[in-house]
Amino acid sequence: MSVTVRVPAKVNVQLAVGAARPDGFHDLANVFLAVGLYDEVTVTPADGLRVTCAGPDAGQVPLDRTNLAARAALALAERYDRSAAVHLHIAKDIPVAGGMAGGSADGAAALLACDALWGTGASRAELLEICAELGSDVPFSLVGGAALGTGRGEKLRPLEVGGTFHWVFAMAGRGLSTPAVFREFDRLAEGRDVPEPVASQDLLDALAKGDPDALAAAVSNDLQPAALSLFPELAGTLAAGRAAGALTALVSGSGPTTAFLARETESAARIAEALRASGTCRTVRTASGPAPGATVVFA
Ligand code: ATP
Repeated sequence: MSVTVRVPAKVNVQLAVGAARPDGFHDLANVFLAVGLYDEVTVTPADGLRVTCAGPDAGQVPLDRTNLAARAALALAERYDRSAAVHLHIAKDIPVAGGMAGGSADGAAALLACDALWGTGASRAELLEICAELGSDVPFSLVGGAALGTGRGEKLRPLEVGGTFHWVFAMAGRGLSTPAVFREFDRLAEGRDVPEPVASQDLLDALAKGDPDALAAAVSNDLQPAALSLFPELAGTLAAGRAAGALTALVSGSGPTTAFLARETESAARIAEALRASGTCRTVRTASGPAPGATVVFA
C-alpha cells in the first residue's frame, strides 16, 4: 500500500518585505500563485524512515532528516503517536533552491501522503498548523491556487483568480540560499526606512479579473535587488525574456529562477525558445497557474 501526492511549485507575483524584526524574520505581504510544475511524493510503509529522490536536480536534495518531506512525516508521526517508518520517494521536477518553494512543496506533499496512509483523521486546520511549523511557504503548497500570505508569509487568505496566467520560467546554473538573499536585503536596506509590507490592490484586482496586462503592470518583488546583487547574471536573463516579448519579467521569490508572463500559450512558447537560445540560463519551462494544491493522485 502506498500513497502518491502531486504538489505544485509557486511564483510570487508580489513579495513585499518589511524591515527585519527583532526575531530576525521579516513581515511579508506575499501573493502566491501555484503553477503547473509538479513534484510527486510517494509514501510506502518501510522498516524505518528513508528518503529517495529522482529527477534532474536530485543530486542537490538532502536525503537525511533535514529533508522537508522527512520533517513533515516526523512531525505528523509525533503528533499522532505513530512511527514514521516510511519510505518517502520524491519525483522532483521543481528546481532545487530556485525560489519556487520546491522543498516546501515536498513537505506539504509528504504530510498529506502520510496523513492518508495512516488515516490520522487530522483536520485541514491541523494539517495547516503543522505546515506553518515546517516553514513559511509550506501552508501555501498544501492549499495551492492563489493566496495572500502575511506574517512570515504563513497566514494565508485564499484569493480569487479570474483566468489562467501563462508563465515561462528560466532556471539558473546555480542556486541561491533564501537566508542569504534576506541578509543581502537587510544589508541593502541599512540606513533606509523600509515601509510596512502591504498587498497591492491593483495586483489583487488583476488576479481577480484574470487580466495578464494588468497583472504585468502590478507585479513586484522586494527581494529582486538583493537577488540581483548576489547573482548579477540574472539581469541578462531578465533582459532576454523582455526582449522576446514577455509582458513582465521578475525574479521568482528569492531567486534565482526568473519568471516571465505571457499573454497566451503561443507567446509563452516563443519566449521560452528565445530564452533557450539566449544562453543566459540552464533550462526553461512553461507552466500556467493557478494550479491546485497538494492532491492525492494514487492511494
Ligand atoms: P523557497 O522558494 O521556499 O525559498 P527554494 O525553492 O528556493 O525555496 P528549495 O528547493 O526549497 O528552495 O531548497 C532549499 C534548500 O532546502 C535546498 O538547497 C536543500 O538543501 C533543502 N531541502 C530540504 N528538503 C528539500 C526537498 N525536499 N527538496 C529540495 N530541497 C530541500
